Amino acid sequence: MSKSYRVAILGATGAVGTELMALLQERKFPLNELKLLASENSAGKQVQFGDRLLTVETVQASSFDNVDLVLASAGGSISKQWAPIAAKAGAVVIDNSSAFRMRSDVPLVVPEVNPDAARAHQGIIANPNCTTILMNLAVWPLHKVKPVKRIVAATYQSASGAGARAMEEVKLQSQAILNREPPEAKVLPYPLAFNLFLHNSPMTANSYCEEEMKMVNETRKIFNEPELRVTATCVRVPVLRAHSEAINLEFDTPFDPESARQILSQAPGVKLVEDFTQNYFPMPIEASGKDEVLVGRIRQDISHPNGLDLWLCGDQIRKGAALNAIQIAELLIEQNLI
Ligand code: NAP
Repeated sequence: MSKSYRVAILGATGAVGTELMALLQERKFPLNELKLLASENSAGKQVQFGDRLLTVETVQASSFDNVDLVLASAGGSISKQWAPIAAKAGAVVIDNSSAFRMRSDVPLVVPEVNPDAARAHQGIIANPNCTTILMNLAVWPLHKVKPVKRIVAATYQSASGAGARAMEEVKLQSQAILNREPPEAKVLPYPLAFNLFLHNSPMTANSYCEEEMKMVNETRKIFNEPELRVTATCVRVPVLRAHSEAINLEFDTPFDPESARQILSQAPGVKLVEDFTQNYFPMPIEASGKDEVLVGRIRQDISHPNGLDLWLCGDQIRKGAALNAIQIAELLIEQNLI
């Protein structure tokens, strides 16, 4: 009989937690038991899971007793507090926060890119930043054929990237503006409806925000290319779900757009979406709810002989977080690492 697993979701009531639950069902994950954990605010809340009604519990040390796998999506400080306790209790933790991503003893895994990295886990595996996962899915297949020298990315990131409450806030702001009332910003720093602003993550000493530095540092770790040149400008836009990215790549020699198109049309986790005659390319509304990262508008960079431009949209709650985490769990099962 095939094995089944006792799973806990930490942050079960959030945007990523809700998607994790949907994916466990959709992908028929071999579940023996599912525990839903969140803050005391959600204790006792009932959540439908298939034909069962599950009750959300406040996380505590004993929550991880007899749990094989923890899918953590409650934020960095909560992961820092609970992931080591869960790992010590014998569970493998797949963490969606940035708490452990750059630690040398914690693998940072995108299954389509560096699945073997998962083998070295010591109880905690980090799920990369959502924008980074989406970019890596499109760049890695090209990099394998011809090493990329420099990546320049500009992102257009949806409200839900900041959590379920931020998405609700943008809806309320939109309604307020249409009713000629002032929009209220409580979750995000500024009104996002009918507006955009530079990514709201904390600023670092080099004038890049943390989100931008995640794209730099995490891509280097995942690609195992510590010197790779990456720069990014991350922007929050009034889209509810799915992030978009304009990516410019520089190689040592020209990369024919048609070859890139061929490679990306067969790349795992990528769907080519482009019709130049209709000006039809990936859109966040079409990427929402999809597993694949939609890639298109592949073209020669006319400002550089060895440059290539592309555009992508991907559901950052799904492939950028929950789906990637579940794929890591499936990988662990396949390789008998759990
Ligand atoms: P969210 O919608 O705000 O949900 C946060 C979850 O954490 C809720 O279930 C919340 O429970 C729980 N939580 C908060 N404080 C807690 C505490 N003290 N103890 C236990 N649980 C607590 O956030 P999210 O967007 O799902 O993001 C979760 C994590 O995934 C973050 O680290 C985020 O950076 C990362 N991530 C998010 C995305 C995305 O697109 N949203 C993508 C990639 C990675 P209550 O309901 O009880 O407050």
